[in-house]
Amino acid sequence: MNLLDGKYVSEKLKQEIAAEAAEVLETTGRKPHLVAILVGNDGGSETYVASKMKNCEKVGFKSTLIRYDESVSEAELLAKVEEINQDAEVDGLIVQLPLPKHIDPEKVTEKIEYRKDVDGFHPINLGRMMRNLPCFIPATPYGIMLMLEEYKIETSGKHCVVIGRSNIVGSPMSILMARNATPGNCTVTLTHSRTQNLEKLVRSADIIVAAIGKKNFVTADMVKDGAVVIDVGINREVSETTKSGYKLYGDVDFENVAPKSSWITPVPGGVGLMTIIGLLKNTLASAKKEIYQ
Ligand code: NDP
Repeated sequence: MNLLDGKYVSEKLKQEIAAEAAEVLETTGRKPHLVAILVGNDGGSETYVASKMKNCEKVGFKSTLIRYDESVSEAELLAKVEEINQDAEVDGLIVQLPLPKHIDPEKVTEKIEYRKDVDGFHPINLGRMMRNLPCFIPATPYGIMLMLEEYKIETSGKHCVVIGRSNIVGSPMSILMARNATPGNCTVTLTHSRTQNLEKLVRSADIIVAAIGKKNFVTADMVKDGAVVIDVGINREVSETTKSGYKLYGDVDFENVAPKSSWITPVPGGVGLMTIIGLLKNTLASAKKEIYQ
């Protein structure tokens, strides 16, 4: 078993991003700038946004956090998005999900100017990704692809089983793995809660991407010897033994699956750290106008 070490890869890529950000500052006179909007006080969202902001500072980006109370109206939020869309000093805009029930996340996602959509959730970016055109790729799948690239994991011709079909992880991951690109060129099976014979399908996988949101869902008997295992899950449980007061678990039973795998991501220390890199790279590409003018 070898570890796909998110800590190592993310630190390495952060150094590269920081060097490029310094060049942007020198040539344009300003830092790449990411704006995040956070609505309400969801514990997980607070942690993710704080980490995004912290990492922006680390690589020499400017970051701005705009907070709204849970009760903010949809109209007010959309008006703020429009204001930021028009702001020439902003390169990337993300609205942290989930949003309160009275706000339609689709409306918000589509309102974000696609040239600033560094989360890659806008239909234009998703459509361009589908067609293998330059675009902002959703941060988590992007981070996973960067990790596969870094470790030179052979994907061509392999059977990749993605578990979970969310718009932000499973679905885009399935498209990226199937694209005619490197990494890519997999034969992909996208599975979900209605999939029949899931265990059998997963057992036939050379590469497993688990994005379900259920602790230890993928067990050793579901994994064939030598499989590459990507664990996207972040399941938080209250813990008295950690400083933060909670402990993170993946969707994969790491302890028992790791000995069977050829490569595996740990949780924490795997995909989560790479997601931040996906976001930073998209923001940098936006500041450099590499994808859209
Ligand atoms: P969603 O809840 O949006 O999607 C979960 C998916 O899993 C759905 O497609 C669902 O199927 C499927 N599913 C649920 N139960 C089963 C089952 N018994 N068998 C097969 N499929 C099942 O989750 P996300 O994609 O947003 O997130 C998944 C996990 O990844 C979570 O733990 C989340 O915290 C984590 N995450 C981690 C990130 C990171 O940076 N590491 C980033 C984003 C998410 P159906 O569609 O039929 O309901």
